This record gives sequence, C-alpha cells and structure tokens, in this order.
Amino acid sequence: MNTNLQTPIDYLKGVGPNRADLLRKELGIYTYQDLINLFPNRYLDRTKYYKINSLQKNAADIQIIGEIIKFREVAQKRGKRLVATFKDETGTIELVWFRGQKWIRERLKLNTPYVVFGKVNWFNGKFNIPHPDIELKTEHDGNLRSAMQAIYPSTEKLLNKGITNRVMTKIMQNLFLETKGKFAETLSEKLLKNLQLISKSEALFNIHFPQNLDALFKAEFRLKFEELFYIQLQLILKNLIHKSKIKGFPFETVGAHFNSFYKDHLPFELTNAQKRVLKEIRHDLGSNAQMNRLLQGDVGSGKTIVALMSMLIALDNGFQACLMAPTEILSVQHYNGLLYLCKSLNISIKRLTGSSKTSERKKIHEALENGELNLLIGTHALLEDKVKFKNLGLAVIDEQHRFGVAQRSKLWKKNTSPPHILVMTATPIPRTLAMSIYGDLDLSVIDELPPGRKAIKTVHRYDSNRLKVFKFMRDEIDKGRQVYIVYPLIQESEKMDYKDLMDGYESIARDFPAPKYQISIVHGKMKPSDKDYEMQRFVKGETNIMVATTVIEVGVNVPNASVMIIESAERFGLSQLHQLRGRVGRGAEQSYCILMTSHKLSNDSKTRLETMVRTNDGFEIAEVDLRLRGPGDIMGTQQSGILNLRIADIIKDNDILEQARYHAKQLLAKDPSLGQPHNAVILETYRQMSKYKNIWNYIS
Ligand code: ADP
Ligand code: MG
Repeated sequence: MNTNLQTPIDYLKGVGPNRADLLRKELGIYTYQDLINLFPNRYLDRTKYYKINSLQKNAADIQIIGEIIKFREVAQKRGKRLVATFKDETGTIELVWFRGQKWIRERLKLNTPYVVFGKVNWFNGKFNIPHPDIELKTEHDGNLRSAMQAIYPSTEKLLNKGITNRVMTKIMQNLFLETKGKFAETLSEKLLKNLQLISKSEALFNIHFPQNLDALFKAEFRLKFEELFYIQLQLILKNLIHKSKIKGFPFETVGAHFNSFYKDHLPFELTNAQKRVLKEIRHDLGSNAQMNRLLQGDVGSGKTIVALMSMLIALDNGFQACLMAPTEILSVQHYNGLLYLCKSLNISIKRLTGSSKTSERKKIHEALENGELNLLIGTHALLEDKVKFKNLGLAVIDEQHRFGVAQRSKLWKKNTSPPHILVMTATPIPRTLAMSIYGDLDLSVIDELPPGRKAIKTVHRYDSNRLKVFKFMRDEIDKGRQVYIVYPLIQESEKMDYKDLMDGYESIARDFPAPKYQISIVHGKMKPSDKDYEMQRFVKGETNIMVATTVIEVGVNVPNASVMIIESAERFGLSQLHQLRGRVGRGAEQSYCILMTSHKLSNDSKTRLETMVRTNDGFEIAEVDLRLRGPGDIMGTQQSGILNLRIADIIKDNDILEQARYHAKQLLAKDPSLGQPHNAVILETYRQMSKYKNIWNYIS
C-alpha cells in the first residue's frame, strides 16, 4: 500500500533507463500509475497450440511448438534481415527479425524444441512471424499459464528493441509484486454496493491476469464504469458551474414579434419535434442562466425556422440577435430566407461578411451600436473586434462543426454578460458521442422531417455508365428539374482536383450545350461575388445544372433541384456524402442521388456506398461512420483525440455510459460540491485526476 503510484517508471524492477525511455516515448508511460492503466488490447489462450499447416491468413496472435532448422540472412534496402526456418511435424514457417539479429543468433539453438508466439503475416506467398516471442519448450512447460494471457498495446519500435509482450507481462508482474497488488479504492462504498462492482484492486488484478472469463468481465465492467463516470462527472460539474456562475439575460416575455409571426406569418405548421425543441429553448431563455444549447437535426429537418423564432424572442425582450453561418453562400441564403419570412414584421435585418464593402460595413457597425439594427446575419466576420452590439441577447451558430470552441467564447466577449447561445448542427452525432463531447451543452434534437417529403432514391453507378446517367439528367431537366454535380476537393491535392472539376465541366458543357442548357459553376477559388452570382442564377432557376465542389455542402436550399450527382464518391466521407445528398429532396418532387465511382474500391469505400444506398437516416449513417473512422475523427481533425478512452468504447459501451451519466447526475444532485463524507473518495479521485491531468486528456 505504500508504493507511490506517481513513482517514475525507471524505478520498477525490470525497466531501467533505456526501457523507461522507450516506454515514455512509445506508450506515454511515465509512472507506475500509467503502467497500471495500460490495459490489454485482448487476451489470448496460451494453453492452445496451432499447427503450421492449419494457419489462416490474418490470424491473430498464435503459438506453435517446433524447432529452428536453419538461419539465413537476407539483404534488403537498408541492412539485412535475419530469417529462421521453423518447423513442426506439419510444415515450416519463417521467423523474421529486422533488428537485434546478433543477439538472437547467439542465443537461439538449432534443432531444439521452442514455443514461438506472435502475429502471423502473409508475405510473398508464405507465412512468417516477425519478431516473435520465443521460449524454450522446457521453460515454457514449467510456467503457469492461464487461458487468458493479456496482449498489451505495442509499437514496432518496442518490438524491435526487444520489449515483447512477454517482457511487458513480466514488467506488469513486477509492478504487482512491488505493490502487493493493493491499490487505493477510487469509487465510493455506495456506488460499489449499488452497482455490485468489484474493488479497484481486484479489478486491476483481473484485467491484467484474468483467472477466468467471469472475473475478466467483472473487471472490465468496473473499470469502464469508472472511466466513464469521471468523465461525466466532470462534464456535468462544468455545466453546473456554468449555470450557477454565468447569469444570462432572462427573456421574460414572448411578445409581439413572436406572436404575430406564429399566428399570421408561419408558412407551414411546425412539426411536433420543432414545437418541442422551441419549448426547450423558450424555457432556457426564460430562466436566469445563460443558455448553451446544441440543436441537432438532420438536413432538411427545419432548424432555420426554430432559429428565427428564438431570435424573435430575443427581439421581443429588447435585445439584438445574430446568426452566424460557416460560408458566404450560406449566409446569403439565410439572409434572403429570413428577409422573406420577416417581410411583414417590422424588424431590420442586415448581412455582414468578409466581402461587405467598407461603406456598408460602417453603416452596419453604427446601426449595431446604436441599436437600430435588430438582426445581423453573417460569417466569421461577425467575430471581428470592430463588430460591437448594443445588446446582443442571442447568438445562433449554424453548422457548428466548422466553428471551434474558441470562436464560441469570442462571442461572449461582445457583451457585459454573455448572450444566449444556440448551436445548430446537421451532423447527426450519435447521442452517446454527443453526451460525451458536448456534455457541457444541453441537447435538443429534431428527430422528425416535415411531412410530405419523398425519400431520396440513391444509387451507385460506375463511371462506365456515364452515358446512361447523362440521359437520366436530360429527362429530369426536361421535366423542369435542376441538377447538382459535385466534385471532390481535398486540399492537399488541390491542383489535381481543380483539374478534375474543370475537365468535368467541359465534358458536361459538351453534352449539355447552350442555349438549350445553362450551366453554373461554383468553386472555392472564385471571388465571393462571382460565387454569389452563379449561385443565385441556379437558385432563380436560370441554370439547369450546377457544377460545384463541396462548397455547396452545407445549407444550400434549392427545392427545385432534384438530382445530386457525386463524382468520385469513393473519395468522400460518409457524413459528407449524406450532407451533399441533403441538398436535394427539399421539394415535392421525387429526388435522386447518384454516386459515381471507378471500379477500384476499397472495403471501406464499399461500406460507405452501400450504407448510402441502403438508408437516408442520418443517425444510422453517423453510427456507421463512427465505426469506420473512430470517434476521434468524426468531428473533423480540429477536435480529434477528444475522446482518449483507455478502456471503454464509446459505441459498444453505450449502456455503461448511460449508467455512468445517471449515477454522476444523481450524485451531484444530492451533493453538488462532493463535500459529504461518503463522497470523499470521489472528490479525492477527481482532484487527483485533474491534478495529474488524466481527465483533461478526454476533453479539448
Ligand atoms: P435544415 O434543418 O437543414 O437547416 P431548413 O431549415 O433549411 O433545414 O428547412 C428545410 C426546408 O424545409 C425549408 O425549405 C423549410 O422552409 C422547410 N420546412 C421547415 N419546417 C417545415 C415544416 N414544419 N413544414 C414544412 N416545411 C418545413
Ligand atoms: Mg440549415
């Protein structure tokens, strides 16, 4: 019990300065504590032996009994590799070493029974095992083995330097010997009892040296629960502190603007989901605390009208409101849309972006500061220091994945008190993930599309079918519809992508000649005013085809466009494909999405395409995306690594997460400061985690 877990790893028996250095660099293990938290990736049955002739491609780690019958050295680009032929009664396999060859050569004997253990590779038509663990059969027989041997995360460098899984296991054993396997409890008696959790010491022992499957499951459950519990505790605490410390403007009345709009100018009946979400927002705005809410709703679910009505509440209470969009095009569209919706309300609306003229800008700045301007729509330009509001009451941020947390907080500084904030996103983050990442935001979900929408029909076509696709386009255009054709534009290879786009445009211009057909083109390199002009021509129906890059990905609303053709669809991510598809299916007509690809497709690309063809459900798509890419990636690189879970899996352990959140909430409801004696252990653990920054790894 006396070993301090903050002891540097160098001091542990079997480690030493060189290995300590490697463990630090390769696995981020600095202390005993870090090592104990290096949880196995999986477990292996070491009572089971394979025969060489029954090996399978992409088999996991296996062990074989046999003898080395010869060694040879093979020259390669840099240096050489050592290859041993290993034989059992059914065949031979190669063992390969790229480093430490001298040592291996001197130590291993020919024609002597060994047990080798490692991951099997398929290379040049043969099986081999690179850098295997290898043990004399006589020694192996003398060791105790369990049916579940822990396999630790490793790196090539560690393996090359001889820190094999066997060595890691040995080091772990030393840690348990030195600490006598006694570790301080980190959850309260009450939680342990209520959830029937095993103790910390028991859990750690069984995660590293499981005695049987049941013990392993119990250990996993306890450690996953603990991990998720402390993350949730932190998120909820942050939220509570936020609500108690940060006073918002209470919008007490729902007044003339809102009521008149609701009664006389609403162009359609709100869906039940929209009504529910509006209620949640109204409740927040009416309370004393500052609202910090995430509004999630699939493309086309009608978030804009909710945003507008929320802004009207701000106006009714004598405040200004703003709406920030991620792109110029989208800001134009919001501006035009809101102007139209508000045409018979007596409010002033303006648009401000990077390309606004200086004179126009000046006027807007003035009107903002003296309060004449009620509603400001724009892009990042709204964040500039020069933009000062008289009294900003509500800021709406559309398509939040393009805005970072830092920008959100910039908005706060525009006022004496921070405005209420409504963040809207069409990225259908699975609820589990939203709970973990945005635990500090309250969540509203529009889970219903407006009535009368026809499901978009999605198909996958190979480039070789292009002529048929063109024919289909002509038919649709003859019916009066409009068509999008989107090309990938991925920054690193921008030049090439740009060429793809221009080539595509020319070929389409040939097949769809003027004057019968009119084509717009929009891409990121155009001047904003040219982009606007082209976009507007398409919006007004003056052009039949819009050739574009992904700049049209978010928000653009042209109900008459019924065909979305995505070129090189295999190069897009799932959520991007879904976003793009969401540009059609906005009107009364049947809409189509055609995913064009070459014949060369990776397995992941196939899964993405199949998923798109199978379903229109954004949440289902997000879950597949999450599986394919992992949670770190899903928010874009900006926020990657946000969830560095050690043992829990944000998708598979959804139910444990819900339990953890429930118990964290319960606990804080009764004891918000964690001051009660029976929660002392939780307070202490929480402090330790914050002190050693363990917990901050999870949160950006
Ligand atoms: P998104 O959530 O993707 O931002 P929008 O707010 O742009 O969706 O709405 C998509 C389309 O649906 C718009 O044309 C809008 O006018 C329409 N719409 C929104 N709500 C309803 C509703 N309750 N009934 C009918 N149409 C609606
Ligand atoms: Mg939108």
